[in-house]
Order: sequence, then structure tokens, then C-alpha cells
Amino acid sequence: MRQYQELQQLFNKPQKVVITTHHKPDADALGSSLALAGYLVKKGHSVKVITPSDYPRFLFWMKGNEDVLIFDKNLATNAATYINEADIICCLDFNAYSRINELGDIVKSSKALKVLIDHHLEPEPFADYTYWDGKAAATAELVYDLIEDLNDLSLIDIPMAECIYAGIMTDTGSFRFPSTTKRVHLIIAQLIDIGVNNSKIHRNIYDSNTENRLRFIGFALSKKLVILKEYCLAYFAITNSELQEFNSQTGDTEGLVNYALSLEGVTMAAVIIERPDMVKLSLRSSGNFSVRDFASDHFEGGGHKNASGGKSHLSLLETEKKFLSLLPQYKTYLNQDYNNEINNAKN
Ligand code: 5GP
Ligand code: MN
Repeated sequence: MRQYQELQQLFNKPQKVVITTHHKPDADALGSSLALAGYLVKKGHSVKVITPSDYPRFLFWMKGNEDVLIFDKNLATNAATYINEADIICCLDFNAYSRINELGDIVKSSKALKVLIDHHLEPEPFADYTYWDGKAAATAELVYDLIEDLNDLSLIDIPMAECIYAGIMTDTGSFRFPSTTKRVHLIIAQLIDIGVNNSKIHRNIYDSNTENRLRFIGFALSKKLVILKEYCLAYFAITNSELQEFNSQTGDTEGLVNYALSLEGVTMAAVIIERPDMVKLSLRSSGNFSVRDFASDHFEGGGHKNASGGKSHLSLLETEKKFLSLLPQYKTYLNQDYNNEINNAKN
């Protein structure tokens, strides 16, 4: 549902706007938020972007990064003041209050009108206005679409275009997931026309590894990768002390799951990580197997059919055991996708 006419009405006079996005924002979460912020400021609104947690250093180049308010439990009043005084709260790249942690209760109790701009499946019905499409490749694509619907494409400047580019690039796995439609490529072409240096953005995001991160990936690949051919599955289970050993920073485990999915014959990949407050799961699949359903049925999670996440309050070992105990019931489906792939390749 894309309520752009209603949103046009809503934004036709200056408003106090808060933009927020999901816990541990990725390039789409932060990029779509900052691009929308850039647009709304140009339209005369006063805007504050508030994130529920910190985010990776490789996103700091985005214009507006220095003005982002990172929610901190100990300084909560600052964020609460913005949220309570806002006329409108835009919720980008998430669809349930649980995804913004402690900010959830503050946003929920604010009298501000809530606008959801998102592409995750099965949104919770908390928003007053919705600009949602589960088929969109990225929330950044939806921000572009919304600006186009509002006849304001000429307001997209290079910094906004860079943020949109980064969101689409990362959420499509650098333009290779099935969500990469012709329209995605056309939007990207427009962004390059505006002046985006696409190669610079790839370098900023993918070629900014620290030595620790690269060595951690090497360690995980050589010592931690588990391959279960009978389930067409590969996964990593990483302890907190292993993260500490490599001085792991926010964002350092991002992308690890894709190495497991890149294995021939693998239709589901997982990274199970011990975090201080919970165990976090990151899931990927190729083909028809829905890791969104798997995450929401068993690990309080959600996301997309081929990319999802969830959590567990059991220990790492118990979570891994639970994960493994679920596999037999999915064996046929996991193998089916692999057999389909082989048959498609033969045809
Ligand atoms: P990632 O594995 O990159 O953290 O997340 C993959 C996708 O699943 C993203 O679209 C992310 O927003 C979503 N996701 C990750 N963790 C959770 C979770 O705990 N709950 C829900 N609902 N979605 C999640
Ligand atoms: Mn996204």
C-alpha cells in the first residue's frame, strides 16, 4: 500500500518530524532515513534522525551522519523529548516496535502520527499512514519512489542520491538478488545521472575492512563453518569470547552469512551469534525456502523470504541445539530447492 496522496497532504505544511529505523541500522536503514531527512528538510520541515543503537563505521560517510541521535538508555530524555514533541514519526525499514528496542515504548506512547515506509513482510498495523511494498528491493527504493510520486525528483541532490544508492546496493547484494528488477537498474541509472560515484560507494562499504575483521572472517571460515549436506545447510555459531578475541566492532559480522550461502548445494545459511543480552540469528536462503517464516515461527524474528533474522534467550549452545533439532521437519523443502536448482541448470 502506497498512500502517497495522503502523505502529500500530511507534509503540505511545516512539521516536526522524527525519523527512526531498526536496531543496528544497515546501509538501507540509515541510507533511506538520511535520504528522506534530506528531502523533508528541503521541503521546510524540521527533522531529527534517531537510531535505536549504534551502526557500523563504514556508514559514517553518509551526509547527515554527524547529526544522527543514537539512542542511549542513560541519556534517554534527549531522544524522548524529540519523540514526544514530534508531529510525525517516520518508521523506516522495520515493521514492528520490537525492532527498535527501548525506543519502541517511547514511539508507541507519542501522540505523533506514525508513517511506515518499509519493505519487510507482514507489517504490524501500528502506522497511521503506510508507504509499504514487500516486493521493493530496499526501503531506499521506496524513498525514491515516494519522492517521485510527490513530483520532487529534482530535489534529490548527490548526498541524498548516494544514500539511496547505498541502500539499494546492499539490500540487493550488489544487484544480484531476485529483487533486482529493471526498475531498480533504471533508478540506479538516474542516481548516476544525478552524480553518484558508484564505484566510490562500493569501496566505502565493501573495502573498508579492518585487519581484525578480515582475520575474524578467516578464522570463522576455517574453524567455525559447519556444513550439513543432508539439509543443504551451512552455518556458523560464534561465541562472545571469539568476537572479543578479534575486537569485533558493530558491523564486523555483517556479510559473514553470505559466505555460507555461497557454497554450492546450500539453500539455507545461518550465523548464530552470542551477544551480551541475547543470541542473534541471521538467516539467508536461495529459492523458495522462506527464512522469514522459519525465523518468525521459531526465533521471534522476521524479515524477507530470503533474508531474515531472529533471536533466542537460550544459551548459544542451546540455541544451536534447538536450531539443529528443527531441521528434520524442513529436510524435504531444503532439498527440494537444491534439486530444483539442479534441474533448472540442466534445462
Ligand atoms: P540481518 O541478518 O542482515 O541482520 O537481517 C536480515 C533481514 O532480517 C533484515 O531485513 C532485517 O531487518 C531482518 N531482521 C533481522 N533480525 C530481525 C529480528 O530479530 N526480527 C525481525 N522481525 N526482523 C529481523
Ligand atoms: Mn531494507
